[in-house]
Amino acid sequence: MEISSHQESPYRLPPDVVKFRDLVRRIVREELIPLEREYLPHPGHALGLKETLRLKAVFGKDVVDHLVKISRDTGLWYSMVPEEYGGPGLSLLARAVIMEELNYSAVPFPVAVVANILYECKGNQIDRFLKPVIEGEKTTCFAQTEPNAGSDPGGMMQTRAVKDGGHWVINGTKMWISMAAESDIMMVQAVTDPDKRQRGGITMFLVDRHNPGVHVVEPGIRTWHGTRPAQYTVHFENCRVPEEDVLGEVGKGFGLGQRWLMIHDRLLRGPYALGKMQRALDMSIEWAKQRVTFGKPIAERQAVQWKLVDMFVDIQALRSMTYEMAARADAGEDVRTEGALIKLCASDWGTRCIDHAIQIHGAMGESLELPLTLFYRLLRHTQIGGGANEIQRMLIARKLLR
Ligand SMILES: Cc1cc2nc3c(=O)[nH]c(=O)nc-3n(C[C@H](O)[C@H](O)[C@H](O)COP(=O)(O)OP(=O)(O)OC[C@H]3O[C@@H](n4cnc5c(N)ncnc54)[C@H](O)[C@@H]3O)c2cc1C
Repeated sequence: MEISSHQESPYRLPPDVVKFRDLVRRIVREELIPLEREYLPHPGHALGLKETLRLKAVFGKDVVDHLVKISRDTGLWYSMVPEEYGGPGLSLLARAVIMEELNYSAVPFPVAVVANILYECKGNQIDRFLKPVIEGEKTTCFAQTEPNAGSDPGGMMQTRAVKDGGHWVINGTKMWISMAAESDIMMVQAVTDPDKRQRGGITMFLVDRHNPGVHVVEPGIRTWHGTRPAQYTVHFENCRVPEEDVLGEVGKGFGLGQRWLMIHDRLLRGPYALGKMQRALDMSIEWAKQRVTFGKPIAERQAVQWKLVDMFVDIQALRSMTYEMAARADAGEDVRTEGALIKLCASDWGTRCIDHAIQIHGAMGESLELPLTLFYRLLRHTQIGGGANEIQRMLIARKLLR
C-alpha cells in the first residue's frame, strides 16, 4: 500500500460525491488559499461559523461576490441543503467529505449554513425563517448557555417563558451567544414547565433579534478568537413572542437543542478538524524537508519524524471514525454517543496535531502569516464549546456502564 500524507477514503463514495469533493479541493487551492495572506492577520475571522459574515468582515465586495458566484454557479451553495429545499440531498457522509475539504483553508467558502433543527419550521415559519436563511439573507444564532448554566443547561437554565394569551413572554439572560449581535433570528431555549425541565419542560423559540424585549450587550465578550468580539450576553426582558414562533413543539426544545449539538457541534467536528489537521501535516512535511539545521533538513531527525507520524496517525484514525459514524447516522442508527466520541477525538487530537505543526515550524509556527495559530485556537475552543470534553466523556461512560 502506498502511503501518502493524504490517504483517500476506503469507502466507496458515490461518483457525485467524488465530483463535489474534487471540485471543492480545486476551489480551495485555487481561490481560498491565495486569500489567506490577507485574511489571517485580520480580526474578522472571530465571527465563528458564519462563512459569509466572516468573508464580508475581511474582504471587499468584489472578493465576496466572486466567491458567492462560484458557490452559486457550481451548486455548492446548496450542497448542505435537503432536496425539498433545492439541495442535492447529500448524505451526512458526503457532507462530511465536502466539509473536510473546505476546512483545509482558513478562508471560509460561502455556502448555505442552516442549523439542522431549522428544518423543523412549519407553516409560515418556512417563508419567514427557513428560506431566508437558506438563501443567505438572514442568519441565526443558538441561545442555550446562561451565566450559571453551561454544562448542565437542563438542570440549571433560569430563562423562563410564560404563556400570556397568544404570546409567550420570555425573561432571563443568555451568555456566550455566538453572533447574537450579527444574527437576525435567535433560536432561544427557555423553561416553560419548571417541574419537567429537560424532560418536556423546555421550549425552543424563534425570536427576532430586533424584538424590543431583546437586549444584546455590546461590545461583546472578548476572547482569544480575535480582537473583534463575537460572543454576547443577551437579556430578554418581557420579550413577547407569538405562539406560532415556537420551533417544533412546546416542551420539546431541549431535545431539539441536543439534535443541533449532536450534528453541528459533535459529528461534524470530525471534518471540521480533519481539514485543518491535514493542512497542518502537509505544511509540516513541506517545511521539514526544506528547513536545514546542523547540516541536514529537520525532516531527517527522528524527533521531527515522530511528530509527523503522530499527526498522520491521528488523522487516519479520526477520518475512519468520522466516516463510519456518518455512514451509520445515514443508515438511521442512533449515534448520539458516537457523536460525543467524534467531538472528543476531533478536538483533543486536532489540538495536539496543530500543536506539533507549530513546533515543527519553530518561530514561523507562531506567525500570523500561516494558518496554524488560528487552527489551534479554533480547535482548542472545540474542547469547551458545544459541551466540554468532560461532558462528552460522561456521555460515553453512561453508554459503557449502561
Ligand atoms: C467561543 C465560545 C462560543 C460559544 N458559543 C455559544 C453559543 O453560540 N450558544 C450557546 O448557547 N453557548 C455558547 N458557548 C457556551 C459553551 O457551550 C459553554 O461554555 C460550554 O458548554 C461549557 O459551559 P461552561 O463554560 O459554563 O462550563 P462549566 O459548565 O462551568 O464547566 C467548567 C468546567 O468543569 C467541567 N465540568 C462541568 N461539569 C462536570 C462534571 N459533571 N464532571 C466533570 N467535569 C465537569 C467542564 O467540562 C469544564 O471543563 C460558547 C462558548 C465559547 C467559549
